[in-house]
Amino acid sequence: MRCFPNFVIPGFRRRLRCSARIATKANSFMDDLRTLRTRLCIIGSGPAAHTAAIYAARAELKPILFEGWMANGIAPGGQLTTTTDVENFPGFHDGILGMDLMDRCRAQSLRFGTEIFTETVTKVDFSTNPFKLFTDSRTVLADSVIVATGAVAKRLNFPGSDEGPGGFWNRGISACAVCDGAAPIFRDKPIAVVGGGDSAMEESNFLTKYGSKVYIIHRRGEFRASKIMQNRALNNPKIEVLWNSVVVEAYGEKGKGVLGGLKVKNVATGKVSDLKVSGLFFAIGHEPASSFLDGQLQLDSDGYVVTKPGTTQTSVQGVFAAGDVQDKKFRQAVTAAGTGCMAALEADHYLQEIGSQVGKSDL
Ligand code: FAD
Ligand code: NDP
Repeated sequence: MRCFPNFVIPGFRRRLRCSARIATKANSFMDDLRTLRTRLCIIGSGPAAHTAAIYAARAELKPILFEGWMANGIAPGGQLTTTTDVENFPGFHDGILGMDLMDRCRAQSLRFGTEIFTETVTKVDFSTNPFKLFTDSRTVLADSVIVATGAVAKRLNFPGSDEGPGGFWNRGISACAVCDGAAPIFRDKPIAVVGGGDSAMEESNFLTKYGSKVYIIHRRGEFRASKIMQNRALNNPKIEVLWNSVVVEAYGEKGKGVLGGLKVKNVATGKVSDLKVSGLFFAIGHEPASSFLDGQLQLDSDGYVVTKPGTTQTSVQGVFAAGDVQDKKFRQAVTAAGTGCMAALEADHYLQEIGSQVGKSDL
């Protein structure tokens, strides 16, 4: 049971070949093999980053984009690579697979001249302009930056939940139903999902394809998921909801080293019950991928990058933020793409204001 489904799909192999080619091309421009100079550096690879790249490349800003190498455990392409059908992105009336949508976004970024590196930005220095960005193999000097690093799935901590001895992480417990749900250990077995948002609804429905039954364990007496998603789950005969309930412990299946069941507490009555399941999927929301910024941009109390309302401007002039890393309210592909567009237009205006020259780029 691995959470890296993209390693085996043809699109990802295409990406690896592509990045090798791009890296070679970029290297030929460099005086110093490890340092690149650019007018705009984009960090991330979801809908926000690629929309920003498309707009910036068409504006001839020659952007460099770091798409990450399994950054925060997610493949290049971001969160949509962990889902199946995306049915609410305009232009695809029959829906489109999340991975296919992101492959198309990436191809569109490349088409207009974005230079993409399959590397993770590990550190930034926004104290002086040009800003400095660091990966394991290079440094970038950039006149402007767009942070579009998205968010990552949250996990719960209770006895038996981790990867250590006596824990069942990756041995029955996961945070990605689409990645792991089809594993043989879940076939025709009861499975549990924790959460009450759209992810929990979507993942529960998805898991009914494999499990004999799916329990949704939710800490409150109502879901926050959209009505349409709730109804799909509540009308699915293979799904049962355990309201006002939390998982307090996971235990193993005798002699097998995999998950065997859960202790579930009803928070209204205090009663703890035994729930025999072979799978447990966390669908409890996401954490913004902002820790690599190391306090250099203003963040809110949940770690989201603070932007000036109605703009993508951050606390540092010339640094913009787009997508889920700055949006805890909407968190949708289309809103991420929308703010990616805004960030590119604002970066373009900023570069004009500071008189950033075309010749100041290595690419
Ligand atoms: P993300 O998609 O989060 O991608 C950012 C990516 O940037 C990261 O994943 C990583 O690859 C890269 N990165 C991170 N840190 C670094 C770094 N330091 N250096 C370099 N690269 C880095 N929305 C919809 O509109 N419709 C749906 O049907 C839908 N289904 C969903 C299903 C699931 C299971 C999930 C989890 C989400 C779903 N969403 C859906 C929400 C949607 O996926 C997100 O809102 C959207 O992907 C956010 O885009 P983003 O550009 O902000 O970044
Ligand atoms: P949400 O933040 O919307 O929901 C998280 C859920 O997990 C909530 O019900 C929350 O409970 C629960 N939760 C959080 N922390 C804990 C905890 N410590 N213990 C137990 N339960 C906990 O996240 P989602 O991932 O569901 O959705 C994120 C965004 O992605 C949303 O904007 C959503 O619309 C979008 N999305 C859209 C989809 C679609 O349109 N097809 C599919 C999937 C996601 P509580 O409610 O009590 O706070």
